[in-house]
Amino acid sequence: MEFRDLKKQYQENKANIDAGIQKVIENTCFIQGEQVKELEETLAKYVGVKHCISCANGTDALQLALMAWNVGKGDAVFVPDFTFFSSGEVVSAVGAVPVFVDVDEDTYNISVHSLEGMIKKTIDEGALIPKAIIAVDLFGQPAWYSEIKKIAEKYHLYILEDAAQGFGGSIGETRACAFGDISTTSFFPAKPLGCYGDGGAIFTNNDEWSELLKSMRVHGKGTSKYDNVRIGMNSRLDTIQAAILLAKFPVFQEMELKNCQKIAALYTQELKDIVKTPVVKEGYLSSWAQYTIQMRDREERDGLQNYLKKYKIPSAVYYQKPMHLQKAFASNKYDESDYVVTDRLCDIVVSLPFHPYMDEAQVEEITLRIREYLKLVR
Ligand SMILES: *Cc1c(COP(=O)(O)O)cnc(C)c1O
Repeated sequence: MEFRDLKKQYQENKANIDAGIQKVIENTCFIQGEQVKELEETLAKYVGVKHCISCANGTDALQLALMAWNVGKGDAVFVPDFTFFSSGEVVSAVGAVPVFVDVDEDTYNISVHSLEGMIKKTIDEGALIPKAIIAVDLFGQPAWYSEIKKIAEKYHLYILEDAAQGFGGSIGETRACAFGDISTTSFFPAKPLGCYGDGGAIFTNNDEWSELLKSMRVHGKGTSKYDNVRIGMNSRLDTIQAAILLAKFPVFQEMELKNCQKIAALYTQELKDIVKTPVVKEGYLSSWAQYTIQMRDREERDGLQNYLKKYKIPSAVYYQKPMHLQKAFASNKYDESDYVVTDRLCDIVVSLPFHPYMDEAQVEEITLRIREYLKLVR
């Protein structure tokens, strides 16, 4: 069994994907070919935002956003403590300080209560100037933007939505990648909408930032890439990757997202009485980057992973370590009591095989083994 079956996805969509790749090779427009522009227009329309600026990966997308806002030395950026490393890495990469914030134990997203507490603490300490909040749509579910917006307005902070895992999700009629002043996503192969290598995109309604981002992704270009007006990066989406995404996008939109809802519902129905299953807030739609459950303690969680392994069922722990404990951030001061929820989640969460091409029998097999295991240990 595959954790995320990209082979099956390819087999079912092979003709369109192969044709898309072949066309790029024949045209030899490998960099910034017409498919890149077409993809940007398609995704901007889908998300409902004026500009989509594609780039080399989801990490660069975040960093470029911070660069466009001129976030740097002396600035504080608030980042959830329970997320992938990139969300905090980019803050340090531009010279600012990530201030980690505990998360909500039900949704895994930034705790708005802790967020305001950490902002106040940072202001009181006086060493850093609060500039932005990076809100992550973890495991596919959008963060609590109505509350985050109130806090951002109160303290004059930018919202950067990290929807690397959230593309395709929504709150009411609003789609993920439309919640931030700038929003970003990743097309890493295992993300909800993945390409066949690295890729990413940035979304904004702001014309000025859009122009800045387009310059910064090509060496800070002015009128051409040999007229350099600022320091930027080399961060473009390959035309081949854009062609693959154009072939995959209609299937993602019409079929994959719907199948993910069905599989998640089936998992939850089978597991809700024995473990803590994912909580999706009323009116929210998750794109199900992961299906993550909570066990009672670390021993039970690790034991389950070993048990499943015996039956060749893969599982994964996102995330083993809170951001504030990563060695790379060892120079940041922190108070352990600010991270009670994240510390616990790292011990008890486990993500199960999940992808839109799973069938019911696979979900039944996995949930049966989980029930068996719990009968043995509880
Ligand atoms: C994957 C991921 C990223 C980084 O995306 P890459 O394309 O791998 O650089 C950033 N943030 C989160 C939450 C992610 O899951």
